[in-house]
Amino acid sequence: MNILILGSGGREHALAWKIAASPLVDKLYCAPGNAGIAEEATCVALDIADHKAVIAFCKETKIDFVVVGPEGPLCAGIADDLEAAGFKTFGPSKWAARLEGSKGFTKDLCKANNIPTAAYERFKGADAAKAYVRKKGAPIVVKADGLAAGKGVVVAETVAEAEAAIDMMFSGGKDNPLGERAWEIVIEDCLVGEEASFFALCDGETAIALASAQDHKRAFDGDKGPNTGGMGAYSPAPIMTAGMSKRAMDDIIVPTVRAMKAMGAPFKGVLFAGLMITKDGPQLIEYNVRFGDPECQVMMLRLMSDLVPALVAARDGQLKNFDLRWYGDAALTVVMAAKGYPGDYKKGTVIEGLAEAARVEGAQIFHAGTKNENGKIVANGGRVLNVCALGKTVAEAQARAYSAVDKINWPDGFCRRDIGWRAVS
Ligand code: AMP
Repeated sequence: MNILILGSGGREHALAWKIAASPLVDKLYCAPGNAGIAEEATCVALDIADHKAVIAFCKETKIDFVVVGPEGPLCAGIADDLEAAGFKTFGPSKWAARLEGSKGFTKDLCKANNIPTAAYERFKGADAAKAYVRKKGAPIVVKADGLAAGKGVVVAETVAEAEAAIDMMFSGGKDNPLGERAWEIVIEDCLVGEEASFFALCDGETAIALASAQDHKRAFDGDKGPNTGGMGAYSPAPIMTAGMSKRAMDDIIVPTVRAMKAMGAPFKGVLFAGLMITKDGPQLIEYNVRFGDPECQVMMLRLMSDLVPALVAARDGQLKNFDLRWYGDAALTVVMAAKGYPGDYKKGTVIEGLAEAARVEGAQIFHAGTKNENGKIVANGGRVLNVCALGKTVAEAQARAYSAVDKINWPDGFCRRDIGWRAVS
């Protein structure tokens, strides 16, 4: 098969690494890719928001299967457009991608199907929203509807903080971190517990559990500092015992897949449930409609089976009777980011020592935001490298990953030193 991956981050590097290992693959392309992905696939400078250009490339290179990494193109309907042009695509339709694209849609779906999630209301105006917050009291969670790249959620400790978040989300302007004004917000109760990420592969009708993972969203050690796209992750998440995973499948994933099919928007692709494990069991915080980044990186390291037939079976509606095998080892990834991230940061700084780092036992390095400039690897984004390792335990994987981190010479980068602390302790 000729396969095209869309995306350019560490998630896509991990997917490219796993897909390239499949005996089913003839040619592997990635658009636009990065310096690390270029070692596994031919990178193509395509604008993936330009669906016509992507389709033209698929025709030219006789692509048999497209794997979409990020949510943006999925919510914009790239899977629909590619399928309509005759190209089999892994990833949900635009209609099914509303599970990530609209928090209000997902909350309503949960309510209608008794899927455990925080109690909520949807609002189109600030006055009613503030009245609701005053009635409910704090802590309370304010969320902008729509894709907000992690910037659309405020967990407010006080009513005043919640009111300020409501004003921020409904007001446009350059100071609004959302970029533009929200048309609708969701306000929901604050859940208490431990968070976990849970992934299931879906074919529109059947869902099979993949693995669980836990990530670290805050920039600094001790889970402090601003929220980021993710500073590290590990898999499995100890809190997701077999019993808890079964509850997540039975109470959350399976009813969602059934409801999406019933409404004529069958979900095909990876369903990524952000869960809060409360004293009453798992509750859904949010859905994403693609692999997590950096959770995908640790999952790909743990996956023993060939990924390609699984992705094709999900696209073809053939997951019933499908099985995936996993290594018993744990995997952990440390994100190395450019100093200043998630705020302003420099691009173009030189990174050395990658080859030495990759020689550490069990280590695997994925590139998240790099570029090759005249043979030198330079930073080209906020999150730049994913230094991963497998180990018998999370503690061993952690020790190996940090031993690899210490071999990387990049004075302009930083990372957390405590990824996995909860599992290790
Ligand atoms: P989301 O983008 O919906 O995943 O929210 C981002 C983060 O906000 C989550 O990972 C949680 O840490 C937190 N969060 C969101 N909703 C809630 C909630 N209802 N209760 C407590 N924390 C929440």
